[in-house]
Amino acid sequence: MKYVFGPVPSRRLGLSLGVDLIPPKTCSYDCLYCQIGKTTCKVIEPSAYVPGEAVVAELDETLAKVKPDYVTFSGSGEPTLHVELGRIIANVKGRTGVKVAVLTNGSLLYRPEVRERLLKADMVMPTLSTVKEETFRLIHQPHDDLSVSRVIEGLKSFRKSYRGRLFIEVMLLAGFNDRDEEIEALRHVILEIAPDRVQLNTVVRPPANAKAIPLDRTRLEYIKRVFGERAEIIATAPIRDKQHFRGTLSDAVLEMARRRPVTVEDVAGALDAPLFEVDKAVKALVHKGQLREQTHLGKDYYTA
Ligand code: SF4
Repeated sequence: MKYVFGPVPSRRLGLSLGVDLIPPKTCSYDCLYCQIGKTTCKVIEPSAYVPGEAVVAELDETLAKVKPDYVTFSGSGEPTLHVELGRIIANVKGRTGVKVAVLTNGSLLYRPEVRERLLKADMVMPTLSTVKEETFRLIHQPHDDLSVSRVIEGLKSFRKSYRGRLFIEVMLLAGFNDRDEEIEALRHVILEIAPDRVQLNTVVRPPANAKAIPLDRTRLEYIKRVFGERAEIIATAPIRDKQHFRGTLSDAVLEMARRRPVTVEDVAGALDAPLFEVDKAVKALVHKGQLREQTHLGKDYYTA
């Protein structure tokens, strides 16, 4: 499979079948905390980055065999950059009835056609981490034509027309957007947008830039109280479901590690496989040069 991956356990969506519509690393942002790596193609013009028909064919084939909780559009870049996103979502909903989620940075919602493409999704999860232009540019290193006011206007317009569930993710970085005045200004704007939930996150996996430092639990808990009852902390939330993998254990490890850095425990938990077997498979893949190892905050992560 080239465009469909998993199903993999998701911290937010249970068993999630991923769809990757954008080649790495194409995005409108170049976030310090990105776990995929540095953006090599920074764009804001939607296009058919991969063939829509091929994506639909892979989805049909996979959904005939597995029943995920969600089909989730995320992956190696910003999914709303794909011009056929709306048609592919409609296809999944029409043919299978499986729920659809879209993880987006939200930067293109100022465009009416991008908002339109998302209307059939059951859940849309955009990011809004600051309302200050300077902080926005430092954290997200956006395309020159984007501004935080444009992103906020897009989110407000989308909320007015969208009938599904809107979860705003706030990515918190120590020393960037964790000061009281930042949080208060952000809280105010998020109240105006009125999402169903506010999900507080921090840097859990190895980031693209070492300047991205996570917040500690005490500060996260404090910020959660500031945001009120709709807020929850999603960083390091436990994995709920088990993945039903196809092929060998090594294939499954590689499939997970291709999408994001994983630990041996992540893989064992996701696949419901014994830790020692996963450890053995991971070591063999490292030895063959098929996995790269890096240590982040005292934990070993593996990337394919
Ligand atoms: S974290 Fe998301 S929005 Fe930011 S650069 Fe990576 S893919 Fe793009």
